[in-house]
Amino acid sequence: MPLSEFELIARYFRDQPVEREDVVQGIGDDCAEVTIADGHEMLVDVSCFAEGGHFQAGDDPAGIGHRALAYALTRLAACGAEPAWLTLALTLPRVDEQWLRDFSGGLLRLAQRHRVALVGGDTTRGPLTVGLQLHGLLPMGSAVPANGARPGDLLYIIGPLGAAGLAVLSLAGELQLPIQQRQDVLEWLYHPEPPVAAAAALRGLAHGACPLADGLAQSLAGFLDNAGVGATVQVQRLPLSPAVEASFDQAGGWNLPLHGQDPCGLCIAVPAERQAEWEQRLAAHGLMGRWVGIVEPRPGLRCVLDDGTEI
Ligand code: ADP
Ligand code: MG
Repeated sequence: MPLSEFELIARYFRDQPVEREDVVQGIGDDCAEVTIADGHEMLVDVSCFAEGGHFQAGDDPAGIGHRALAYALTRLAACGAEPAWLTLALTLPRVDEQWLRDFSGGLLRLAQRHRVALVGGDTTRGPLTVGLQLHGLLPMGSAVPANGARPGDLLYIIGPLGAAGLAVLSLAGELQLPIQQRQDVLEWLYHPEPPVAAAAALRGLAHGACPLADGLAQSLAGFLDNAGVGATVQVQRLPLSPAVEASFDQAGGWNLPLHGQDPCGLCIAVPAERQAEWEQRLAAHGLMGRWVGIVEPRPGLRCVLDDGTEI
């Protein structure tokens, strides 16, 4: 007998090790109920992932769950918010218990590491789609804006960049990687590490920040455009993943770090006069951030080599 929706939720989603005092009612009632501490506000991110676009039919289900949440956690971190609660809209073509076990495992293990409680959702039948609504908290008025970059700001990247894009090329058979490198980049594609600690480092300091999921060039161009500014980025300063450095030419040179998807990459605009404090914060939070460029009044993104040649 196929599992009922109720049994499915009880078996794969209801029991989680995350306990939060601000959850009054989690999975089980019609609505979830949470409380927000005085002086705090809530940020909400919705991210949707569909088979054929964001992942492929045969992808490891644990990786699908992990990557979807990692992507959402990165977006919340860019706003300076601490993740708190998650709801899940899951559409499944059929009930496949092995798939559900692996998917919920991948999702909930990452959620647990960042104290995110899954408080509700909905489960329907149809083409495989994963919708996540991630809620974050931060002190009132301290959200980091997407349009705050100003001329003179220093641009920092939290990476490493290029590994996910390299994995996609490798999966498509467009290049042959040594076995260890292939494993490393696939691990980064399916189980990327979201820079959750960046939220605390950004608040009250960064002028703006943006996730780099659509690739550095496109994401950063939008971020600068939003703020009515431009920038010059020194590409040789970009924090590349070791596998990308090792197969740089074979993988299309600068094309990969500039245009490859990077679900957990962040770019941050930091006021130049607070650089020392910012670098201290990065170190204190164990974040690998690198200064790569400077915000300028002239619109547009200019990518240059160390010798000044524009690429
Ligand atoms: P029904 O559709 O039978 O009315 P609900 O959709 O209300 O049932 O689901 C029952 C409970 O399970 C609710 O608390 C709901 O938020 C939760 N829930 C449903 N699907 C999921 C899911 N995929 N992940 C987490 N919680 C879920
Ligand atoms: Mg339902």
